[in-house]
Amino acid sequence: MLDGLKNKLRKFLGLEAKPDAEDDEAKAKLKQEIKSEVEAQSKPAEEAKKAADAAAEEEAKKQAESSEQISKESSTQEVEKVADKPKIGYIHMSGCTGDGMSLTENYDILSTLLTDMVDIVYGTTLVDLWEMPEMDLALVEGSVCLQDEHSVKELMEVREKSGLVCAFGSCAMTGCFTRYARGGQLAQPKHESFVPISDLIKVDCAIPGCPASPEIIAKVVVALINGDMDYLQPMLDMAACNLACGCDLQTNVVSKALCTGCGTCVLACPTRALEMIEGRPSHNKNRCIKCGACTTHCPRTWFPAEQIKKDLGL
Ligand code: SF4
Ligand code: SF4
Repeated sequence: MLDGLKNKLRKFLGLEAKPDAEDDEAKAKLKQEIKSEVEAQSKPAEEAKKAADAAAEEEAKKQAESSEQISKESSTQEVEKVADKPKIGYIHMSGCTGDGMSLTENYDILSTLLTDMVDIVYGTTLVDLWEMPEMDLALVEGSVCLQDEHSVKELMEVREKSGLVCAFGSCAMTGCFTRYARGGQLAQPKHESFVPISDLIKVDCAIPGCPASPEIIAKVVVALINGDMDYLQPMLDMAACNLACGCDLQTNVVSKALCTGCGTCVLACPTRALEMIEGRPSHNKNRCIKCGACTTHCPRTWFPAEQIKKDLGL
């Protein structure tokens, strides 16, 4: 049948000897014959397609019913799972959001952290909620401005509603570069005094850095969830750290004959305010932003030997 159809097509297109009838009437007749044959051939295919479509529709319906059932079951499990997860809030005071961004730079584990391990219940830019809820852990970024009544009240509320308060990054921990604020700038010329949050409330732990590194944020959150106090000890010690200047290294490490000349402080400094001169760190105060990273990274201000052994499996 197909050969006949091909031949007719070839004839119609003038590829073979001209059709017997060259006039329009003959061509129209030929065209009609081709059309009828094409319809005759496509009919079984159409019927088969209809049958296949109906079968697929039936199958899809069955699958939808079954996945609705699965989804009902798993959402019940999810609710139970969420109920067990620690509730974490992110509070933004006078900071630059750099630490919040650093948190999100945990590309490989962020979704696991946020979906399986913790429940973010509050946070500017993260959660659309105006009323601060109860939280297990509050990550507070930024220092607090004493002339900004709203910020001071918010910080008090954080303390009231949180099990643990963590100074998240150097501005919250030491004041960092907001220590240089002097006021006199529009639109709030009276906003002149910025202090670390531990000056106003009790702070339980601190994650230092300007910004804090993605890795340390993730590790601290996981350690808090697991109650790993060995890992957390330095962060607990740093909660009220006021050694926030490169010159503190001179006073507390070099002048006390504790410096080994390892150079870690120089590597930790985000502004290159430190350089090693004759085996000891030298501080350029014009570059220092008072982040405290040099002190918190110096292995002679604290040395967590037990934790290092644990991490290395020794
Ligand atoms: S010297 Fe560098 S690391 Fe140390 S407080 Fe100043 S800016 Fe921070
Ligand atoms: S990190 Fe501490 S021990 Fe190492 S060079 Fe700096 S001050 Fe000295």
